[in-house]
Amino acid sequence: MHELAVCQALVGQLADLADQHQARAVVRAVVQIGALSGVEQTLLEHAWPFASSGTVAEGAYLQFEAVPLVVACALCGAQTPALPNRLLCGRCNSWHTRVVSGDALILASVELAT
Ligand SMILES: [Zn+2]
Repeated sequence: MHELAVCQALVGQLADLADQHQARAVVRAVVQIGALSGVEQTLLEHAWPFASSGTVAEGAYLQFEAVPLVVACALCGAQTPALPNRLLCGRCNSWHTRVVSGDALILASVELAT
């Protein structure tokens, strides 16, 4: 299950952060989910209790933020929103675009208890 692996990676990142700050628990974590990341928020929420059980992140409140997909156009230089199945420039309709944001899962901020 993909989402469980994603959660386990998040737990790993949180455990490292807690270690660095000598925290005893993770209170809250804000996770940004890109529209193109391929991760479903509801599946993450379901996998989270299993992945974090027995770790420093157990019981942490996960807060999700959706990150819209934005592409940059190689022809006209515009940066415009796009749909995951339609990576077109919003200004000139070119296919010559690259994803600027919205393709990743990012641990944006963390609240630790020390
Ligand atoms: Zn363009």
